Amino acid sequence: MNIVLLGAPGAGKGTQAAKMVEVFGLPHISTGDMFRKAVADGTPMGVAAKGFMDKGELVPDDVVIGIVKERLSQPDCVAGFILDGFPRTAPQADALGAALSDMGRALDAVISIEVPREALVGRLTSRRQCRACGRIYNTMGEMPAVHGVCDDCGGEVYQRDDDTVATVTNRLDVYDKNTEPLIAYYETRGLLRPIDGDRSPHVVFADVRKALEG
Ligand code: AMP
Repeated sequence: MNIVLLGAPGAGKGTQAAKMVEVFGLPHISTGDMFRKAVADGTPMGVAAKGFMDKGELVPDDVVIGIVKERLSQPDCVAGFILDGFPRTAPQADALGAALSDMGRALDAVISIEVPREALVGRLTSRRQCRACGRIYNTMGEMPAVHGVCDDCGGEVYQRDDDTVATVTNRLDVYDKNTEPLIAYYETRGLLRPIDGDRSPHVVFADVRKALEG
């Protein structure tokens, strides 16, 4: 299954992706996680991406498209993938369609997790994440048993630099302008599966599953 997870920052894409990995056994490809790793490793791409990320701006299309194409050509993607945070612009969506078509493949579904904007700011500023494995926690909900230490891998649980109030508003504006139009883009292509994401993660996941298993 070739799946795209669409949704605003804080809609719960990462949380749903983790559940989908468990159930469907597909690789989770998060462009945000890939950039955060590049920043942590201090690679040239990471250094270039950090300036955009810290302001809540998008990394240029050609950079993102390049890393996604490279990732999709890896052997673990042969049976399918879950793309999280990509595509985010119309040129990225076009490039994804073209890359898949070159491989003789196509998207099976675009899961669109929809959450009202008022709820997103609170979710993002209370979000915490494991620096090592990417697991997501929330100060208003599930937190690790030991403060600052991931339950799964022992990694450091921290607040992302771009989950601060100052950056969150810009990220949501960038989403509305660049990414929200992709809902119509995929609806026209008959791929869109809208899901109400303003509920607890396991209830949302039950609907995600239904949408994928038909
Ligand atoms: P995320 O973890 O998906 O919220 O991504 C964090 C940041 O990484 C974004 O705010 C962007 O700066 C950058 N980023 C991730 N995915 C993309 C993408 N598909 N296109 C452009 N920039 C991206």
